[in-house]
Amino acid sequence: MKVLVAVKRVVDYNVKVRAKADGSDVDLNNVKMAINPFCEIAVEEAVRLKEAGVASEVVVVSVGEKSCQEQIRTALALGADRGIQVETEGAVEPLVVAKLLKGVVEKEQPQLVILGKQSIDGDNNQTGQMLGALANMAQGTFASEVKVDGDAVSVTREVDGGLQTVKLKLPAIVTTDLRLNEPRYASLPNIMKAKKKQLDVFSPADLGVEVKSHLTQLRVEPPAERQAGIKVASVDELVDKLKNEAKVI
Ligand code: AMP
Repeated sequence: MKVLVAVKRVVDYNVKVRAKADGSDVDLNNVKMAINPFCEIAVEEAVRLKEAGVASEVVVVSVGEKSCQEQIRTALALGADRGIQVETEGAVEPLVVAKLLKGVVEKEQPQLVILGKQSIDGDNNQTGQMLGALANMAQGTFASEVKVDGDAVSVTREVDGGLQTVKLKLPAIVTTDLRLNEPRYASLPNIMKAKKKQLDVFSPADLGVEVKSHLTQLRVEPPAERQAGIKVASVDELVDKLKNEAKVI
C-alpha cells in the first residue's frame, strides 16, 4: 500500500511571529522554518505503517517554493522513501493546494493520503477536506488513532465529549490530530541518507492545474498588547478592586 503524506513549510512553532511594519504580512526575514507540527505527526504515522508492514512506500509532497525542499528532506530523514515538490510562487491558498494535491494523487495513486488537520500559520483546517471533495475520497479528519484493515481504514476521531470511530473504504484521506502519535527525531545518519533519496519537482502545469487566487490578504496585525498586572496584598483588596475599579463583580 502506498501512502502519500502532505507536508507544509511553516514558521517554527517556537518562534514568536511579528507582523511587517506596513501590516501587509508576517515578517519571515531570518525566521526559523519547520515542518508544520501536524504534518510531522502525519509523516510519523505513515512511517509507523511502513514499519508495521502495512505500507510499502511513503511518499511526501510539499507545495511551495524551492525552500520547502528542506522540509521534504526532513520528512525523508524521518523515514519517508521519496519526495515530491510542487513548485509554486508566494502564498498559495488551501483550494489551490488541494487541487495540486489531487493532481499528485492522480499521478501516484496512493491508497492512503495523510495530511495534518491544520497548518499552524494560516490555521485554515481546509486542505484535507477540500482534497476529499475534489478527489471524491472518503475522509477521516482529526484522527487520534488509525488502523488499516484490508481494504478499509478505521479512524478514531476526537469529537466534543468523546471519541467517534469511522470506517473508510480505501483509498481514503486522513487528517491528523495532536494525540495520534509522538513524532521521532531524525538521527544524523538518517539526515545524511535523506540527502540521497529521490525528490522530483513538478510544476502546476505538469499536474494540469492553473494557480488562481480567490482571496486577498488585506492586513496582518499583532494581538493587542496586554497591560502589566499588579499584585494585591489581600483577598479583600482584590475583591475591592474587582468591584470598584474593574467593575466586573
Ligand atoms: P490547512 O488546510 O492549511 O490548515 O492545512 C492542512 C494540511 O494540509 C497541512 O497540515 C498539510 O498536511 C496540508 N497542506 C496545506 N498546505 C500545504 C502545502 N503548501 N504543501 C503541502 N501540504 C499542505
